[in-house]
Amino acid sequence: MNALFDAVIVGSSFAGSILGKILAKNGWRVAVVDRASHPRFAIGESSTPTADFLLAYLADRWQMPELRPLAAWGTWKETYPEITCGKKRGFTYFAHSPDRTFRNCPDHSTSLMVAASQTDYWSDTQWLRSDVDTFFARQSVASGCELFENVGIEDVCRDDSIWRVRIMDRGSEKNTRNLKARWLIDAGGGGDFSQRWLGNQRDDDWMKTQTASFFGHFTGVKGFADQLNPTSPIDPVSGFCADDSAQHHVAANGWMWMLRFDSGVTSVGIVQPTQFWKTIGTVSEGLQVWNRWIEQYPSIKELLSNAHPLEAGEGALRWSDRLSRCRRRAVGDGWLQLPTAYGFVDPLHSTGIAHALSGVLRIAELLVAEGTVDSSQSARWVAYDDQLRREIEWIDLLVGGCYRSLPSFPTFCAFAAWYFVAAIQFERAMARDPSLWSNGYLSCEINPMKEKARLSYQQLMSQSEESNIESIRRAIEPWNDVGLLTPVSGQRIPHTAPPKYSVRLNAKC
Ligand SMILES: Cc1cc2nc3c(=O)[nH]c(=O)nc-3n(C[C@H](O)[C@H](O)[C@H](O)COP(=O)(O)OP(=O)(O)OC[C@H]3O[C@@H](n4cnc5c(N)ncnc54)[C@H](O)[C@@H]3O)c2cc1C
Repeated sequence: MNALFDAVIVGSSFAGSILGKILAKNGWRVAVVDRASHPRFAIGESSTPTADFLLAYLADRWQMPELRPLAAWGTWKETYPEITCGKKRGFTYFAHSPDRTFRNCPDHSTSLMVAASQTDYWSDTQWLRSDVDTFFARQSVASGCELFENVGIEDVCRDDSIWRVRIMDRGSEKNTRNLKARWLIDAGGGGDFSQRWLGNQRDDDWMKTQTASFFGHFTGVKGFADQLNPTSPIDPVSGFCADDSAQHHVAANGWMWMLRFDSGVTSVGIVQPTQFWKTIGTVSEGLQVWNRWIEQYPSIKELLSNAHPLEAGEGALRWSDRLSRCRRRAVGDGWLQLPTAYGFVDPLHSTGIAHALSGVLRIAELLVAEGTVDSSQSARWVAYDDQLRREIEWIDLLVGGCYRSLPSFPTFCAFAAWYFVAAIQFERAMARDPSLWSNGYLSCEINPMKEKARLSYQQLMSQSEESNIESIRRAIEPWNDVGLLTPVSGQRIPHTAPPKYSVRLNAKC
C-alpha cells in the first residue's frame, strides 16, 4: 500500500478522531494511526462546562449532530446509554489532615463546593475514556477516515512537500504500509512522536508545576457525601451531591481525585510533587507509596476500605512520571500539533479535554475554512503556535499557584478562584460568540487578570494566610460576580457557568 492522503493524524483518541472526522467530512482523505487499539485504557476523564461547550459547538459548526448528545449528562444517557459516563455537577475540594477524620465545619473552612451546572440533566460528565474514545474513533471511520490501529511508526520523512510515513502492524513485521500525505498532525498526547520524528525537543524547565501521578480504576469506592452531611446527600447551597463531582481530596502537598462513573467504577489517582515519588522504580513500589499515603488519612482510607482495582496484577494501577511538559514548537513546515501533544500541565482544574477540543476547533478552522496551507509562513499558524505557549504558561500559573499554596487549604481554595474566574469569563465570551475568542482560551489574553494572578503567585511565600486570601479576594473582584471568596457565599458557590450552549440551543430547555 502506498496511499496518498491529505493528512496523517497520529493518535486516534477523542481529539485526533474528531479532527479526522471534520477533515474527512470536508473532503479530505485522512489516515489516523495509533499504536494502541480501541477499546483501551486512557486517563483524563473529567469534562468541564468549557469542554462541553466546545464539543457542542464543534458538533454544530461542522454538522456532526451525532456528537452533540455527549455535551451533557442527560442527553448522553438518553442517546448513548451504552457509553459509560458519570454525572459531574461541579468541583469539590476537601481538606484532609494526617491521622484526623475529615470534619465538615459549620463555616465550611475544610471544604469547597463549586457548582458548574444547575441541573443533573445539563450537567457535565466524567468520560470513561475506553468507551468514549472508541466511539469517537468509530465516528471518524464512519465519516471516511482510514484508521490504522496497533501500528508502530517505523519511519517519517518529507520530500517535495509530501510526508512519507511508514507504519508496521505491531503483531506482524511483514505488514508494512507507506502513507503519503500533505499534512502531518500530531494528536499523540503525551507520546513522543514530534520529538522522535520532527526533532521537536522539550522546552519545559521553566514550568512551575512539577507533579507526578499514580492512578487506576476501582470498584467498591464508597461515597463521600455521607461523611460530609449524614442527613442529606445534596448540599443545600451549592445544590448538588458531592459524589457527582470532580472530587479533590486535598492533603499536605498534593491531592487525590475521585471521579465516579454510573457503572459503579471510580477513577482514583494521587497527584504529588515529583520529589514525593522519587523512590519509585516499579509499579509495586508505587503501590507501597500509594498505600502509605492512604494510611495517613482516615477518611480517605474509609472511602477505599472496600475498593478493588478493576484490573488484576501489574495493570491495576498506572504511574505517570512528571506530568508537566511543553515542546519548543507546535507547528512547522507541513506539520502541527494539537494542544495536548504540544503541552500539558497537571490534572488539577481538569483543563486537558477542553484544551484538546479548543485545538481541534482552531485547526479545523485554519485547515478547512481558511485553507491555510503552508504552516511555516502563515501568520495564522505562527499565531496558533504563540497562543499555545501563552495558554500553557497561563494554566501552569493557575495550577502551580494552587500547589504553592499548600499546605494551607484556605489559600489553595483562594488561588483556585483564579482558575474559576478565568474559566467563567471564557465561558461567557463563548456564550456571546463561540467563534470569537478575543480574550483567548481560558481568558489567557486578559492581561490585567494575568498580571494580578502573577502577583498573587509571587506573594504566596511572603504573606500570611489571611493576607494572601484577602489580596486574592480583592484582585479577582473585577471578574468575580459569582461570589467566590466572599463571606456571603462562603465555600459554597451555587452557580458559575453561563447558560450552557447545549441548553441554549436545545428544545428541551
Ligand atoms: C493523570 C492525568 C489525569 C488527567 N485528568 C484530566 C481530567 O480529569 N480532565 C481533563 O480535562 N483532562 C485530564 N487530563 C488530560 C487529558 O488526559 C488530555 O488532555 C487528553 O487525554 C488529551 O487528549 P488527546 O486526544 O490529545 O491525547 P491522548 O488522550 O493522550 O491520546 C493520544 C493517542 O495517541 C496515541 N499515540 C501517542 N503516541 C503515538 C505514537 N508515537 N504513534 C502512534 N500513536 C500514538 C496513543 O495511543 C493515544 O491513543 C489528565 C491527564 C493526566 C496525565
